[in-house]
Amino acid sequence: MTVHFPFQNTYAALPEGFFARVTPTPVAAPRLIKLNRPLAVRLGLDPDMLESPEGVEILAGKRVPNGADPIAMAYAGHQFGYFVPQLGDGRAILLGEVVDIDGVRRDIQLKGSGPTPYSRRGDGRAALGPVLREYIVSEAMAALGIPTTRSLAATITGESVMRETVLPGAVLARVASSHIRVGTFQYFAARGDTEGIKRLADHAIARHYPNAAGADRPYHALLEGVIARQADLVARWLLVGFIHGVMNTDNTSISGETIDYGPCAFLDHYDPAAVFSSIDEHGRYAYANQPRIALWNLTRLAECLLSLFSDDKDKAIEQAQSILGEFPGRFTLAYQAGLRQKIGMFTRRDGDEALAQDLLDTMAKGQADFTVTFRRLSDAAEDANRDSDVRQLFADPSAYDDWVARWRQRIGGEPQTPAQRASAMRAVNPAFIPRNHRIEAVIAAAIGRDDFAPFEKLLAVLSKPYDVQPAFADYATPPEPDQRVLRTFCGT
Ligand code: AMP
Ligand code: MG
Repeated sequence: MTVHFPFQNTYAALPEGFFARVTPTPVAAPRLIKLNRPLAVRLGLDPDMLESPEGVEILAGKRVPNGADPIAMAYAGHQFGYFVPQLGDGRAILLGEVVDIDGVRRDIQLKGSGPTPYSRRGDGRAALGPVLREYIVSEAMAALGIPTTRSLAATITGESVMRETVLPGAVLARVASSHIRVGTFQYFAARGDTEGIKRLADHAIARHYPNAAGADRPYHALLEGVIARQADLVARWLLVGFIHGVMNTDNTSISGETIDYGPCAFLDHYDPAAVFSSIDEHGRYAYANQPRIALWNLTRLAECLLSLFSDDKDKAIEQAQSILGEFPGRFTLAYQAGLRQKIGMFTRRDGDEALAQDLLDTMAKGQADFTVTFRRLSDAAEDANRDSDVRQLFADPSAYDDWVARWRQRIGGEPQTPAQRASAMRAVNPAFIPRNHRIEAVIAAAIGRDDFAPFEKLLAVLSKPYDVQPAFADYATPPEPDQRVLRTFCGT
């Protein structure tokens, strides 16, 4: 028996310049850490076969499955605002595409599978810590209902990688609705390759924005589509306290999925200026800067598409600017609708946005935990006696008292019962998010003791983020002061 992947590879059928053909570098002694069995089934793969020795060798890049057409994709990108004309998959190899049970085409990529022509000075490998981190956070995001790449499997390679210290090597098998990035368009634009941009745009339309194909101006519709999805995505990030950490244009997906989890983090206490990434010295990618940066990245995409908009450059720029102008409105609409839901509004009234913003300001001043505040507010919606559980989260509890009086007056004007309101609020205010200190503890157990039980447990808790899970109440609590993680690392 061989493991069967029903590959149908369309990206590898694009012209040569789009990628480099390269096979994964075999690893010494692959061992499966985790297979995402439900995801495997959705992809039309047999999870038992993937857990067989042959399947594990495939997931670790030791064996290339039948039908794969392994490639490293070419791309460029602005990294922290500076343009790098050639990046590309330096430590990732796309095995191929499968069409899942919903009919959606998905890339299966190995991350950490050895050098490629785009590795530059890197070793093409990944360390266990970042692989576990990406596995946990991407699956948590999926469970939260936020568009994201998925994790199909994590394997240990049996080899060491050299970072600041010697670490166990690992491979993440990642699934994305594609790995096309803003930086992929920039790669061709930087080379003046208008034909390449057109081919790529046509591919992206066919794959992600089929409605654009029938629009009067398909390439304009493509840009509109990407803008709409990115505006929605970043709004959802903010609403759960997520900070991507490296919103470079090469980490901005055309499909609108969250991609390339590096030094990402979730807020503990609410702080709009929060930055965790050790490499983000100037706070370019701080929590509240993310919408602005998304627009900056989309502006770079629009520049790449100008040649497809019109032969008249001024006209093309004017059209691009008009489409980009839709971003702030779209973002604000999605963000404010989400905020109103978080505070339990069933209808919209004047003053609601200000009410929500005042809570955020009070949280910022009072150093209140973002996730716990909204979750406990959901409980308080059901039972006013539980206000004390919320107010104690604020450094100055009386500030909450002022706010909650206004809130109760506002919700009192809606016909829903307290129980209805609480349950609607719990459905949008997660109890469980992948907190940094939990992730660090999982990684420490895995590296230090070869113990993956904490990893499994955290994954299980995070798979039901909105549920009441009394047995795991401690997973909902913020870190103690001595557990607080202030810096996260990309670990490449
Ligand atoms: P990232 O910071 O993960 O978005 O990666 C930025 C660029 O560096 C991409 O082109 C990666 O493929 C490349 N890269 C990151 N880590 C490595 C590595 N260990 N070996 C080779 N290339 C890498
Ligand atoms: Mg990247």
